[in-house]
Amino acid sequence: MSRVFNFSAGPAAIPLEVLEEAQAGLPDWSGTGMSVMEISHRSKAFGVVSEAAEHDLRELMSIPDSYAVLFLQGGATQQFALVPINLASADQSVDYLITGSWSIKAEKTAAAVRSVNIVADAARLSYMDVPARDSWDCDPQAAYFHYTSNETIGGVEIHEPPDVGSVPLVTDMSSNILSRPIDVSRFGLIYAGAQKNVGPAGLTVLIVRRDLLRESVPELPAILSYGAHAEAGSMLNTPPTFAWYMSGLVFAWLKRQGGLEAMGNVNRRKSDKLYAAIDGSDFYSNSVARLHRSWMNVPFTLARPELDDEFCAQADQQGLTNLKGHRSVGGMRASIYNAVPEQAVDVLLEFMAEFERRHG
Ligand code: PMP
Repeated sequence: MSRVFNFSAGPAAIPLEVLEEAQAGLPDWSGTGMSVMEISHRSKAFGVVSEAAEHDLRELMSIPDSYAVLFLQGGATQQFALVPINLASADQSVDYLITGSWSIKAEKTAAAVRSVNIVADAARLSYMDVPARDSWDCDPQAAYFHYTSNETIGGVEIHEPPDVGSVPLVTDMSSNILSRPIDVSRFGLIYAGAQKNVGPAGLTVLIVRRDLLRESVPELPAILSYGAHAEAGSMLNTPPTFAWYMSGLVFAWLKRQGGLEAMGNVNRRKSDKLYAAIDGSDFYSNSVARLHRSWMNVPFTLARPELDDEFCAQADQQGLTNLKGHRSVGGMRASIYNAVPEQAVDVLLEFMAEFERRHG
């Protein structure tokens, strides 16, 4: 078997142990004589899977009982639209903090259906920093405040949930959910596409304070309503059962690693050593403000951008794959989610040092 070190931004690496566990159970899962993909989402056997996944996620993130956990489809992009129509009525305004590509997309989608107040826009900081809290123009009457806790493309992370008073805090946590402990009770709603730090694409995880599931917009079709999904236990229609099952295996794996405290320590170490190497070299650079550098996505550029393709090609040859930066920004990006072991970062650092020796 030849597994590579996969630095993909998403769909991203999944722990090998989890892949092997799924593989072993594929033809005859749990004595059913079928794979988990071939059984009803309403069967007793799948009920065990769905409940265990929710239980383990609640335990990992210490999610209070006053929050519902939903396992939906549609990706984070669908939540860009569902958040405003579920959490704000037509006459309410909503606050958005703009820190990069994903918050721009979330804001544009919300603006199509609700009145949006942009509290601050990091454009003047070239999306390399987050505008200072005291410069934000927040609306105390806003139905909610939305921000992107980790900008996957720019590598800009907001490490602590901001204080926005009593306005419910909503965050797109797609690329840093489960990367460390967080205080869920600070949030009104958290959403995340699964394909980075949770499991396979196709599943979207939502954690929402139950009191926000009120019928503020009774005209919503059930399939678009968080309240209806919560009431139906995320089984209003057929959920993405295999992705849900796989995510459950990832949650159990995370528990075996020591939970989010342990993951946070490893993630901090992985990103610290990568930034230290970049900062210590004249050949590599990362311009994100230190306070907001992402633990999950580390973009960097080469002093000689004409070598970008060669860097990626040689890295690939050494089993270091998917290091090309997002097409909108170029350069390189190492996504180092939970399933990317520290050893992968160590091997990458050796490769980077050697590449610099030859080309710097
Ligand atoms: N938000 C963030 C922060 C992301 O990184 C992504 C995907 N890269 C999205 C939203 C969009 O996710 P999806 O493709 O699941 O809709």
